[in-house]
Amino acid sequence: MIVRSSHFVAGAWVAPECGGTIEVTDASQGVVMASVPAGTAADADRAVRAARDAFPAWSALDVSERVGYLKLAAQELGRRQNEIAALVSRETGMPYATSNVVQVGVPLMTLSAVGEIALGHRFEERVCNSLVIRKPIGVVASITPWNYPLHQLVAKVAPALAAGCTVVAKPSEVAPLSAFALAEIFESVGLPAGVFNLVCGDGLSVGEALVAHPEVDMVTFTGSTAAGKRIGEVAARTVKRVALELGGKSPLVALDDADPVAAVTAGVSACYLNSGQTCMALTRLIVPAARKAEYEAIAKAAAEQVVVGDPFEATSVIGPLATAAQLERVRGYIRSGIEEGARLLSGGAEPPEGLEEGYYVRPTVFTDTTPDMRIVREEIFGPVLVIQTYETEDEAVALANDTVYGLHAGVYSADVDRAVAFAHRLEAGQVQINDGAFNIHAPFGGVKQSGNGRELGEAGFEDFLETVSFQLP
Ligand code: NAD
Repeated sequence: MIVRSSHFVAGAWVAPECGGTIEVTDASQGVVMASVPAGTAADADRAVRAARDAFPAWSALDVSERVGYLKLAAQELGRRQNEIAALVSRETGMPYATSNVVQVGVPLMTLSAVGEIALGHRFEERVCNSLVIRKPIGVVASITPWNYPLHQLVAKVAPALAAGCTVVAKPSEVAPLSAFALAEIFESVGLPAGVFNLVCGDGLSVGEALVAHPEVDMVTFTGSTAAGKRIGEVAARTVKRVALELGGKSPLVALDDADPVAAVTAGVSACYLNSGQTCMALTRLIVPAARKAEYEAIAKAAAEQVVVGDPFEATSVIGPLATAAQLERVRGYIRSGIEEGARLLSGGAEPPEGLEEGYYVRPTVFTDTTPDMRIVREEIFGPVLVIQTYETEDEAVALANDTVYGLHAGVYSADVDRAVAFAHRLEAGQVQINDGAFNIHAPFGGVKQSGNGRELGEAGFEDFLETVSFQLP
């Protein structure tokens, strides 16, 4: 049992103002593995003041000095990679080998990529008689979810710090432990007091207090679209900048010349990664009607080959869902698909055989779906793939874009130029073309109700800067 009883504020581990705690559950066992403080608005306020006090000196440092701290933090994170990957596996259920690469390996790459971007950034330029200056925006509140807890935190904190901002981080109450490790890392490398602060608690008590706080200049949020809308409303009262990375219901379109095995293999793995608890999961496989039966057979076989098991078994491809609430939600969606008349090709609402403890669910595929079904329209956040069919390419575009979301999409074709032309017609912040890999150097974010602002890449760095201009004589 891990007990975290302090917040990290102004460079010190401090007791919360009130004594409440939040329990963290081990996803594969369904038992309590840790407790963290249930912070309050008073804790949020103390952390914001610490960040405000630290801002003048931190923002005045040369960018190379700020990047120097990120490099030291990367070294320390590398040293603790296995330990932190195991923690995240226990919290989220992601298999350990994947967790090592994705949950910690990606933040490691991000720390170094952000450093390069910051060092190469032009903070000042002459435009005719003006000097245009990019300044750090100020105190940033970072509010993050539980599915990729360290990646989401580092993708915000690293560029914010490199830009010269100071940060108050509020991780998800479901998976907060890697955020404590990150605070320890910043402490161990001597990051100046108050530059990074950590408070724990739920969204209403700590999250909203940060969003409403007049001394917070920017909120960077990753999470559900419902919470993002609320954050936008609350932040508007103090006219602060808000960057939102929200949910998705992302399509993968197989064009009529695509290799069905390649398209389905990519689709199934992109849908089931982290047991489907991935904002950019490609959860709708859109295939040519003429080849429906072929696609169905391949998708059924691919889903049945996915090994569900304990996150610490080397053979496990996917582990359990993160929480009991997630399990209920995903099973509810599978039942709703059956009730609404979709045909179950594989999986179902019953737990996988031999995995009745913990929050396991069967990799599931539905076909014979209609665009109005809940399993087609709503973000399930579980390993549930739905097949949709089209007659013409225009219809494929219309189906792909028939969603309030626009985070991610995929296109498969034998002809990359054709796939790129098709991708231009999609309403999505990023498009995977054939097996094009996720790239931490490229900007990431959504259109429509999947959010605004960008993370990673040059655009993700610029989000933390404010532009001012001096008109020279
Ligand atoms: P969530 O919205 O419930 O919570 C996310 C974070 O926001 C948590 O820290 C929570 O405590 C906090 N929060 C909740 N309500 C708040 C409020 N009113 N004010 C301030 N803070 C508040 O989301 P979740 O269940 O943790 O994560 C799953 C969701 O996140 C999914 O919808 C998923 O698609 C989305 N997500 C999006 C991305 C992306 O980059 N677009 C990445 C991962 C997850």
